[in-house]
Amino acid sequence: MKKIGLLGGTFNPIHNGHLYIASEAKAKFDLEEIIFMPAGNPPHKRSREILSGIMRSEMVKAAVEGYTGFTLCDYEINKKGYSYTFETLQHLNKLYEDVEIYFITGADCLMELSSWRRVEEILELSKFVVFKRPGYNLQELLKQKEKVEKHYNKEIFFLDLLEMDISSTDIRRRIKNSEEYRFFLPDRVYRIIEKLNLYR
Ligand code: ATP
Ligand code: MG
Repeated sequence: MKKIGLLGGTFNPIHNGHLYIASEAKAKFDLEEIIFMPAGNPPHKRSREILSGIMRSEMVKAAVEGYTGFTLCDYEINKKGYSYTFETLQHLNKLYEDVEIYFITGADCLMELSSWRRVEEILELSKFVVFKRPGYNLQELLKQKEKVEKHYNKEIFFLDLLEMDISSTDIRRRIKNSEEYRFFLPDRVYRIIEKLNLYR
Protein backbone atom coordinates (compact mmCIF):
# COMPACT_ATOMS: atom_id res chain seq x y z
CA MET A 1 0.00 0.00 0.00
CA LYS A 2 1.32 3.40 -1.01
CA LYS A 3 1.10 6.11 1.65
CA ILE A 4 0.83 9.65 0.35
CA GLY A 5 0.17 13.07 1.83
CA LEU A 6 -2.16 15.67 0.37
CA LEU A 7 -1.57 19.32 1.18
CA GLY A 8 -4.27 21.50 -0.31
CA GLY A 9 -4.27 25.26 -0.07
CA THR A 10 -4.67 28.53 -1.85
CA PHE A 11 -0.88 28.92 -1.81
CA ASN A 12 -1.20 32.65 -2.42
CA PRO A 13 1.79 32.43 -2.14
CA ILE A 14 3.28 29.13 -0.93
CA HIS A 15 5.62 29.65 2.06
CA ASN A 16 7.93 27.80 4.45
CA GLY A 17 5.07 26.96 6.82
CA HIS A 18 3.58 24.78 4.08
CA LEU A 19 6.89 23.10 3.31
CA TYR A 20 7.54 22.56 6.99
CA ILE A 21 4.26 20.74 7.74
CA ALA A 22 4.68 18.71 4.54
CA SER A 23 8.14 17.52 5.54
CA GLU A 24 7.13 16.77 9.15
CA ALA A 25 4.13 14.75 7.99
CA LYS A 26 6.26 12.92 5.45
CA ALA A 27 8.76 11.87 8.12
CA LYS A 28 6.22 11.19 10.86
CA PHE A 29 3.91 8.97 8.83
CA ASP A 30 6.58 7.59 6.51
CA LEU A 31 4.91 8.95 3.38
CA GLU A 32 6.26 8.24 -0.07
CA GLU A 33 4.99 11.40 -1.67
CA ILE A 34 3.41 14.71 -0.73
CA ILE A 35 1.05 16.18 -3.26
CA PHE A 36 0.70 19.95 -3.21
CA MET A 37 -2.70 20.83 -4.59
CA PRO A 38 -3.37 24.51 -5.25
CA ALA A 39 -7.07 25.33 -5.01
CA GLY A 40 -8.85 26.48 -8.13
CA ASN A 41 -11.28 29.06 -6.92
CA PRO A 42 -11.96 28.78 -3.21
CA PRO A 43 -15.58 29.57 -2.35
CA HIS A 44 -14.73 31.05 1.04
CA LYS A 45 -12.11 33.58 0.00
CA ARG A 46 -12.50 36.92 -1.70
CA SER A 47 -11.14 36.22 -5.15
CA ARG A 48 -9.97 39.77 -5.80
CA GLU A 49 -6.67 39.28 -4.02
CA ILE A 50 -6.04 35.74 -5.23
CA LEU A 51 -3.59 35.39 -8.10
CA SER A 52 -4.46 33.15 -11.05
CA GLY A 53 -4.19 29.40 -10.61
CA ILE A 54 -1.39 29.28 -13.14
CA MET A 55 0.64 31.84 -11.24
CA ARG A 56 0.07 30.18 -7.85
CA SER A 57 0.95 26.75 -9.18
CA GLU A 58 4.09 28.15 -10.88
CA MET A 59 5.23 29.26 -7.44
CA VAL A 60 4.37 25.88 -5.91
CA LYS A 61 6.31 24.18 -8.68
CA ALA A 62 9.33 26.37 -7.99
CA ALA A 63 9.02 25.70 -4.26
CA VAL A 64 8.92 21.90 -4.46
CA GLU A 65 11.56 21.61 -7.18
CA GLY A 66 14.47 19.54 -5.99
CA TYR A 67 12.73 18.00 -2.97
CA THR A 68 12.35 14.26 -3.39
CA GLY A 69 8.77 13.20 -2.92
CA PHE A 70 7.22 16.68 -3.14
CA THR A 71 5.03 17.08 -6.21
CA LEU A 72 2.62 19.61 -7.64
CA CYS A 73 -0.80 18.48 -8.82
CA ASP A 74 -2.86 20.75 -11.08
CA TYR A 75 -6.09 18.79 -10.73
CA GLU A 76 -8.08 21.45 -8.84
CA ILE A 77 -6.62 24.32 -10.84
CA ASN A 78 -7.67 22.73 -14.12
CA LYS A 79 -11.13 21.81 -12.94
CA LYS A 80 -14.06 23.99 -13.81
CA GLY A 81 -15.94 25.48 -10.89
CA TYR A 82 -15.26 25.02 -7.21
CA SER A 83 -13.28 22.10 -5.88
CA TYR A 84 -14.27 20.30 -2.74
CA THR A 85 -11.83 18.26 -0.72
CA PHE A 86 -14.02 15.15 -0.75
CA GLU A 87 -14.04 15.19 -4.57
CA THR A 88 -10.28 15.61 -4.73
CA LEU A 89 -9.86 12.69 -2.34
CA GLN A 90 -12.20 10.58 -4.46
CA HIS A 91 -10.14 11.50 -7.52
CA LEU A 92 -6.83 10.55 -5.87
CA ASN A 93 -8.26 7.31 -4.55
CA LYS A 94 -9.22 6.36 -8.10
CA LEU A 95 -5.94 7.53 -9.58
CA TYR A 96 -3.80 5.45 -7.23
CA GLU A 97 -5.04 1.91 -6.83
CA ASP A 98 -3.89 0.88 -3.40
CA VAL A 99 -3.37 4.06 -1.44
CA GLU A 100 -3.66 5.56 2.02
CA ILE A 101 -4.01 9.34 1.92
CA TYR A 102 -2.95 11.59 4.76
CA PHE A 103 -4.70 14.91 4.46
CA ILE A 104 -2.37 17.52 5.93
CA THR A 105 -3.87 20.68 7.43
CA GLY A 106 -3.26 23.48 9.89
CA ALA A 107 -5.25 24.28 13.03
CA ASP A 108 -7.60 26.67 11.22
CA CYS A 109 -8.96 23.78 9.16
CA LEU A 110 -9.83 21.74 12.24
CA MET A 111 -11.64 24.70 13.80
CA GLU A 112 -13.63 25.38 10.62
CA LEU A 113 -14.32 21.78 9.72
CA SER A 114 -18.06 22.03 10.34
CA SER A 115 -18.37 24.44 7.41
CA TRP A 116 -16.79 21.94 5.00
CA ARG A 117 -18.76 19.82 2.57
CA ARG A 118 -19.14 16.13 3.37
CA VAL A 119 -16.83 15.87 6.32
CA GLU A 120 -17.74 12.23 6.93
CA GLU A 121 -16.52 11.33 3.44
CA ILE A 122 -13.30 13.29 3.91
CA LEU A 123 -12.61 11.38 7.12
CA GLU A 124 -13.54 8.14 5.42
CA LEU A 125 -11.23 8.74 2.45
CA SER A 126 -8.23 10.08 4.35
CA LYS A 127 -6.37 10.26 7.61
CA PHE A 128 -6.86 13.81 8.84
CA VAL A 129 -3.63 15.38 10.11
CA VAL A 130 -3.69 18.70 11.94
CA PHE A 131 -0.70 20.89 12.77
CA LYS A 132 -0.85 23.46 15.54
CA ARG A 133 -0.58 27.02 14.26
CA PRO A 134 0.09 30.29 16.08
CA GLY A 135 -3.07 32.03 17.22
CA TYR A 136 -4.92 28.85 18.11
CA ASN A 137 -5.39 27.85 21.72
CA LEU A 138 -4.20 24.34 22.51
CA GLN A 139 -7.09 23.52 24.88
CA GLU A 140 -9.67 24.65 22.33
CA LEU A 141 -7.99 22.64 19.61
CA LEU A 142 -7.93 19.51 21.72
CA LYS A 143 -11.59 20.05 22.63
CA GLN A 144 -12.50 20.39 18.97
CA LYS A 145 -10.38 17.33 18.08
CA GLU A 146 -12.28 15.26 20.62
CA LYS A 147 -15.62 16.62 19.44
CA VAL A 148 -14.90 15.73 15.81
CA GLU A 149 -13.55 12.32 16.75
CA LYS A 150 -16.65 11.51 18.78
CA HIS A 151 -19.06 12.83 16.21
CA TYR A 152 -17.57 10.97 13.24
CA ASN A 153 -16.06 8.09 15.14
CA LYS A 154 -12.70 8.68 13.44
CA GLU A 155 -9.25 9.48 14.72
CA ILE A 156 -7.72 12.90 14.10
CA PHE A 157 -3.92 13.06 14.12
CA PHE A 158 -2.91 16.19 15.97
CA LEU A 159 0.72 17.36 15.88
CA ASP A 160 1.83 19.99 18.36
CA LEU A 161 5.31 20.66 16.98
CA LEU A 162 7.29 23.76 16.17
CA GLU A 163 4.95 26.58 15.22
CA MET A 164 5.82 28.82 12.32
CA ASP A 165 4.25 32.23 12.55
CA ILE A 166 3.96 32.55 8.79
CA SER A 167 0.84 33.03 6.68
CA SER A 168 0.25 34.03 3.09
CA THR A 169 -1.95 36.87 4.34
CA ASP A 170 0.93 38.29 6.37
CA ILE A 171 3.34 37.88 3.44
CA ARG A 172 0.95 39.73 1.11
CA ARG A 173 0.56 42.51 3.68
CA ARG A 174 4.32 42.79 4.07
CA ILE A 175 4.86 43.01 0.32
CA LYS A 176 2.24 45.76 0.02
CA ASN A 177 3.94 47.70 2.81
CA SER A 178 7.43 47.09 1.40
CA GLU A 179 8.40 45.17 4.54
CA GLU A 180 10.85 42.28 4.77
CA TYR A 181 9.39 38.89 3.80
CA ARG A 182 12.16 37.14 1.92
CA PHE A 183 12.99 34.46 4.47
CA PHE A 184 9.42 33.26 4.92
CA LEU A 185 9.44 31.45 1.61
CA PRO A 186 11.83 29.59 -0.68
CA ASP A 187 14.25 31.81 -2.56
CA ARG A 188 12.91 30.62 -5.90
CA VAL A 189 9.45 31.85 -4.94
CA TYR A 190 10.87 35.12 -3.65
CA ARG A 191 12.56 35.70 -7.00
CA ILE A 192 9.35 35.05 -8.96
CA ILE A 193 7.43 37.53 -6.79
CA GLU A 194 10.11 40.20 -7.17
CA LYS A 195 10.60 39.65 -10.89
CA LEU A 196 6.89 39.82 -11.70
CA ASN A 197 6.15 42.44 -9.08
CA LEU A 198 3.36 40.36 -7.54
CA TYR A 199 1.11 41.44 -4.66
CA ARG A 200 2.06 45.12 -4.79
P1 ATP B 1 -3.94 32.66 3.88
O1 ATP B 1 -3.41 33.56 4.96
O2 ATP B 1 -4.08 33.30 2.55
O3 ATP B 1 -5.18 31.88 4.30
P2 ATP B 1 -2.26 30.44 4.63
O4 ATP B 1 -0.91 30.83 5.10
O5 ATP B 1 -3.28 30.08 5.66
O6 ATP B 1 -2.78 31.56 3.65
P3 ATP B 1 -3.25 28.38 2.92
O7 ATP B 1 -2.89 28.21 1.50
O8 ATP B 1 -4.57 28.95 3.27
O9 ATP B 1 -2.08 29.26 3.60
O10 ATP B 1 -3.02 27.02 3.73
C1 ATP B 1 -2.95 25.74 3.19
C2 ATP B 1 -2.84 24.75 4.36
O11 ATP B 1 -1.62 24.96 5.08
C3 ATP B 1 -3.96 24.91 5.39
O12 ATP B 1 -4.30 23.62 5.88
C4 ATP B 1 -3.30 25.73 6.47
O13 ATP B 1 -3.90 25.53 7.74
C5 ATP B 1 -1.89 25.20 6.45
N1 ATP B 1 -0.90 26.18 6.92
C6 ATP B 1 -0.57 27.33 6.33
N2 ATP B 1 0.40 27.97 7.02
C7 ATP B 1 0.67 27.21 8.11
C8 ATP B 1 1.56 27.34 9.22
N3 ATP B 1 2.36 28.43 9.36
N4 ATP B 1 1.58 26.36 10.16
C9 ATP B 1 0.76 25.28 10.03
N5 ATP B 1 -0.10 25.09 9.00
C10 ATP B 1 -0.16 26.04 8.05
MG1 MG C 1 -5.31 29.91 5.14
